[in-house]
Amino acid sequence: MKYFRVHIAVGFIAAAALVAVALLDVRTGRSQSKSKESTNKPAAEKGAESRVKPTVLVRDRRVEADTKDVSTSSTFGSAATRNALLSSELSWTFGNKQERGWYLYTPLIKRLLNIDTKHDTKYNIGTEQFASALSRWQAKSGLKPTGVLDEDTLYAMIATWQGARLKDRVYPQPGQLLTAPVSDFYDPTRADELRQVERETYAAYKRMVSAAVADRSLGLARAAHGELAPGEKYLKIVSAFRSREYQEKLRRESPNSGSAGLAVNSPHFTGRALDLYVGGDPVDTGDSNRAIQVQTRVYQWLVRNAERFGFRPYCYEPWHWEYVR
Ligand SMILES: [Zn+2]
Repeated sequence: MKYFRVHIAVGFIAAAALVAVALLDVRTGRSQSKSKESTNKPAAEKGAESRVKPTVLVRDRRVEADTKDVSTSSTFGSAATRNALLSSELSWTFGNKQERGWYLYTPLIKRLLNIDTKHDTKYNIGTEQFASALSRWQAKSGLKPTGVLDEDTLYAMIATWQGARLKDRVYPQPGQLLTAPVSDFYDPTRADELRQVERETYAAYKRMVSAAVADRSLGLARAAHGELAPGEKYLKIVSAFRSREYQEKLRRESPNSGSAGLAVNSPHFTGRALDLYVGGDPVDTGDSNRAIQVQTRVYQWLVRNAERFGFRPYCYEPWHWEYVR
């Protein structure tokens, strides 16, 4: 009898424990899928959502079924770890140049994934949120939605950026160029013939700079009428229109700049490409210099806002912006 009672008691405790585990699982499972839903939102794209959903559903089911360790069960956990590594280690080439990692492109990548770089630190490279946002972009772009920023994904991103650049590279008629005041330039001694800019590009540049100056979070020095102060270096023009002759001279002076450097058919011939000061050494493609530039508030502001004014980036050179309207 005594033995029987103990048996019942043990059985009762075991049943209660099972119910408790089941309840706990349902609750964590639900909150997990709910938080997933909200983190999906910022980068949600119409086309991508339906294609990504199966992955999310599979993962949620797995989380619900797994009673042992809810916190580490995630489709994008390993992708996040992989991204943290690849951001500095991925081996790839740009033109003829051997490159290592994609960390220099983080602001542009986040922009592509619709991640608000100003406010969303939870979307940093090594997070599941980043991997999840990336997987949606991959799905939309016809890539396998792994959430891992591998070589194929990086090349697809570069193709997207390159495809958005200035297509029409016609030489301007003399009347299409104006000579901008020296106060707009990084080098206050720059000669007249090197300060020519295509008219519409210049007007758009001035509108963009006004908006940047008005954004007090950038801390740009302002002059009396709200324009960029003469002593402010940020956003000043380093280089604008270049004649073919001048470009040839530059190429002769640095013969090793290669295809990623001084192009034979430069967009600067159009007068619609501007090199703007975004920090560091103005136009040095070295990784350490570009690492400084892509972290400046001004560069990140351009990544977020330049498109509104008609300017698009050249991913490889943080300072180079093209007016595409
Ligand atoms: Zn340039």
